[in-house]
Amino acid sequence: MKAVAALALLAIPLWAQRDYPVKPVPFTSVHVTDSFWAPRIETNRKVTIPFAFEKDEETGRVDNFIRAAKALHGEPFENHKPPGYPFDDTDIYKVIEGASYTLSIQPDTKLDAYLDGLIAKIAAAQEPDGYLYTTRTIDPLNPHKWAGTKRWMLETDLSHELYNLGHLYEAAVAHYQATGKRTLLDIAIRTADLLDRTFGPGKQVIWPGHQITEMGLAKLYRATGEERYLALAKFLLDSRGPGTLPAARRTYNQSHKKVVDQDEAVGHAVRATYMYSGMADVAALTGDASYIGAIDRIWENVAGKKLYITGGIGATGAGEAFGANYELPNMTAYNETCAAVGNDYWNHRLFLLHADAKYIDVMERTLYNGLISGVSLDGKTFFYPNPLESNGQHERSPWFGVACCPGSITRFMASVPGYVYAQRGDAIWVNLYMANHAEIKLDNGRYVKLAQETRYPWDGAVKISVTPDQTAPMTIHVRIPGWARNEPVASDLYAFADKSDAVATLKVNGKPVALELDKGYATLTRSWKAGDTIELALPMPVRRVVANNLVEADRSRIAIQRGPVVYAAEWVDNPNGKVRNLVLPPSARLTAEFRPDLLNGVEVVKGRDLRDADARTTTCGLDEQRQTKVPH
Ligand SMILES: [Zn+2]
Repeated sequence: MKAVAALALLAIPLWAQRDYPVKPVPFTSVHVTDSFWAPRIETNRKVTIPFAFEKDEETGRVDNFIRAAKALHGEPFENHKPPGYPFDDTDIYKVIEGASYTLSIQPDTKLDAYLDGLIAKIAAAQEPDGYLYTTRTIDPLNPHKWAGTKRWMLETDLSHELYNLGHLYEAAVAHYQATGKRTLLDIAIRTADLLDRTFGPGKQVIWPGHQITEMGLAKLYRATGEERYLALAKFLLDSRGPGTLPAARRTYNQSHKKVVDQDEAVGHAVRATYMYSGMADVAALTGDASYIGAIDRIWENVAGKKLYITGGIGATGAGEAFGANYELPNMTAYNETCAAVGNDYWNHRLFLLHADAKYIDVMERTLYNGLISGVSLDGKTFFYPNPLESNGQHERSPWFGVACCPGSITRFMASVPGYVYAQRGDAIWVNLYMANHAEIKLDNGRYVKLAQETRYPWDGAVKISVTPDQTAPMTIHVRIPGWARNEPVASDLYAFADKSDAVATLKVNGKPVALELDKGYATLTRSWKAGDTIELALPMPVRRVVANNLVEADRSRIAIQRGPVVYAAEWVDNPNGKVRNLVLPPSARLTAEFRPDLLNGVEVVKGRDLRDADARTTTCGLDEQRQTKVPH
């Protein structure tokens, strides 16, 4: 017996052996110190998260759990009406996830205790066999009509039972990792065990009408090592489609074809990106390459035909869905905030699979232009759709009946530092630029400290100080963004209209290094020692961007971009309060100027347009979402 025990101690668990070839450096290891992201992340922690919990309370979302618990325990209660939507439970799970991420960085006993209280309410609403879905438990005989009269019967269409659990898994793993407490994790495990007992080969077949369960189960598998959860994630993907729904609803939720046969992004954009992310996770964890072939083909379709210049996706409000190829209207652009979050989850995962900067280019474009537009600078109002052009009818709102977007913001913003670096073996990837200091543990057991000094996204000068624990060979991959290589996106969907001779330059310890790029990265392999520096200079001229002529809505129009930021003209900044009739000749000179007084400090773009040749000055600023294109 002793020998067996010794062997077990030495063995690496099978489940730990396979995952993404490149690993992200967790956000807990990266401390952001800049004036762009750090205040936003702090506002998320101090304002948005408490505000979202307040709204969850105020709108009865917490009460749904309390009522479900009373129903379960036979206690009297007055209101037996089901929740407004069967997915309202997720609005609490998402904010718990975001709150847990903030607890990983900044202990907060009050928040910790509040989460304990919420989790106790969730626990009390869980049925004895693990089932958790307040929509049914409050009044099983009269549930929400989308829920169906029996468990799971409408899952592949409307009930969202599995969707709720997917968000529960994301929250549970985050809470467990932040606090070490198993309270929410154990609730999640009981639901996953119920799923495992009910569904799988030789049992019932099911797939989630709204995906995320697959990603959630992958996280639960990583946290627990329980292979049944990974097998279940794979089963959900492999069981998907074509099913018995009408054709339009199959396309809507991506069950029109088996997932491995899909090659075009269709239907509800949030569901789609969550499914592609789940496919990436399961591919990485099982080695199933057929998923990778499918999501690679779908990525080519999105990057080549269905991506807004802001990185937004989901062109049409009807079905919150992708449009046809090249269907990218500006005024009616839907671009749900959650879809931007999903697009970044997906592109980041593709990077972890392929180590190619073209995915980070899309991720960064979305992050700066289509995602943070979803929340105001004060952290209290939100956009659901993020159009590129408006007559003034679009305004942020404090909350929504379908409140997915604020919760998505809370969990994404809290984890932004986790997208800056990645590592494998003795190699590091520097993907995003923001002032920070990080301590990176490499796969090979070594530690490296990196410190970035930069004013990015307003200035392209980035200095990285390298402090390895010992002088030894190591490779640092420095991303040269597509926008600095005359390639807005790695496709022919967008191109810079003007030539720029300004090129990126790189120095190591003050000496220029030739830029030889591999998959969008300058690869610096050398024996790194403490005190070494990398200096990257990314010129940021104001650029005009044109779309592929097949994008009808963008013909005769340009977008203005500087560095990673896409600009917009807004009436508040311009003379006479009019911008939709701007005419910008190709010869008009555009200049950039930093305005510390505006929007917490912002680089604005100025130029003269043709409507009034006398003295009109046009100002474009990056607002929290100024995205109107300037016609010329
Ligand atoms: Zn949303």
